[in-house]
Amino acid sequence: MINVERFLQEHMVPLAALVLALVTIAPYLIYEKLRSKKVRGQIAEARETGMSEPVTIHPKVNRAICIGSGACVKACPEKTVLGMVEHKSMTICSSQCVGHGACARSCPVGAIELVFGSEKRGVDIPEVYPNFETNVRRLFIAGELGGMGLIKNSVLQGQQAVEYIKEDLRANPYRKLDNVHDLVIVGAGPAGLAATLQAKKLRLKSITVEREEEVGGAILSYPRAKVVMTSPVDIPLYGKMSKREISKENLMALFKEIVIKTRLKIYVNEGVVSATSRGGVFVVKTSKRELECRYLLLCVGRRGTPRKLGVPGEASSKVMYRLLEPERFGYCKALVVGGGDSAVEAAMALADQEGTRVTLSYRGKAFTRIKRQNREKLEKAEREKKLKILLQTNVTQIFEKSVRLSRGEETADLPNDYVFVFAGGQPPNEFLKKVGVNIETKYGSR
Ligand SMILES: Cc1cc2nc3c(=O)[nH]c(=O)nc-3n(C[C@H](O)[C@H](O)[C@H](O)COP(=O)(O)OP(=O)(O)OC[C@H]3O[C@@H](n4cnc5c(N)ncnc54)[C@H](O)[C@@H]3O)c2cc1C
Ligand code: SF4
Repeated sequence: MINVERFLQEHMVPLAALVLALVTIAPYLIYEKLRSKKVRGQIAEARETGMSEPVTIHPKVNRAICIGSGACVKACPEKTVLGMVEHKSMTICSSQCVGHGACARSCPVGAIELVFGSEKRGVDIPEVYPNFETNVRRLFIAGELGGMGLIKNSVLQGQQAVEYIKEDLRANPYRKLDNVHDLVIVGAGPAGLAATLQAKKLRLKSITVEREEEVGGAILSYPRAKVVMTSPVDIPLYGKMSKREISKENLMALFKEIVIKTRLKIYVNEGVVSATSRGGVFVVKTSKRELECRYLLLCVGRRGTPRKLGVPGEASSKVMYRLLEPERFGYCKALVVGGGDSAVEAAMALADQEGTRVTLSYRGKAFTRIKRQNREKLEKAEREKKLKILLQTNVTQIFEKSVRLSRGEETADLPNDYVFVFAGGQPPNEFLKKVGVNIETKYGSR
């Protein structure tokens, strides 16, 4: 017979240690198990909706090296890109990565590398030399188009590219041609803005065209009040932009202030349609005119041109390809076209405006490519009759006061004031290929 009292007396210390260990470790193990389960579910959902495939740069985790510190997950400000599964980091939604590189920098053992594309989805990157020139002589690329995103990098690259151009210009035999610009800069996002300032500082005869009505590039389409993470950077002719975190709205205001203070001239609402090289001079066709220049600097980013519907009436000013200020569209009839997150988010933002009647038209059978939260919100909005969803429909014609939709053989005209099209973008590769720039497709490499 075991003497319980004696047994307890003799084994009190190891038993207490065991109980203490169980009490402290068990919650951690349970937490780990639940966390892994949750992240696995998110990964499965991302695969199902196509969000797991990268748009461009994204983190590749070497799980053989990963020690499970979780530093990358904490460092990443885009909360759905990385997660922990069984004490190791894994990518969830590679498509949501914006390329900060904070994850790779935070990893204590170097288990994360930022790469372009994946085995399944290749990403086209133009061939750019360290001085930002491409294989086409005197054609330069700066900013995200060259593969390296982020505001700070784009600002630095824009100014550095112009410095190289100024250097090269000194030895250029065509520099004495009249009526020819030294440089045409295409795009006024962070790279184009910094390049334009640097060109002014270095007194180049240069001109900048931007197809949108405002300066700012990709930042214009960030979600409202987004906290933008960046690092201090010098802006030519302006000084240091020292903030590490700034709201989208304040950053846009800062860009406007820079343009005003430096008296910068940027030709907005003027997109470049084509460029050809003729006798050492580029002929650049914009939506408004033809420009000649010795050097061409493309700062057009990677978002590409919004895909059009290609239907009669689309040229009308009531047709738009993004929604910046939903509150401008109260008391109207709006049609949103598309089946992705942007279309769904725009439709819901419009539906929140007082007096606005929103219809969401999508050619597919269901919204299979959107985030779970958006799907839930959309279903709720439809149940509450805040908007109307028309699946398997196509826009066939746009009129001044209505829009024609078809489903198979049937057609119907809906009263309409505005059409918002979210049909994805055509990457700028076609433009690059036509000017002769070499493009390499990357499948999960640098
Ligand atoms: C949702 C989201 C969040 C992000 N968050 C951050 C963040 O927190 N911190 C950070 O550092 N970075 C962030 N980024 C990345 C950052 O916005 C980009 O890396 C940066 O804007 C790239 O600058 P860019 O000047 O190269 O290109 P863009 O900003 O894309 O600008 C390109 C410009 O060229 C114009 N253009 C294109 N084609 C033509 C044409 N044919 N003719 C005339 N003009 C043309 C476009 O209209 C645009 O204005 C984020 C990106 C996204 C999408
Ligand atoms: S690069 Fe930036 S956005 Fe992408 S995973 Fe790393 S920290 Fe997140």
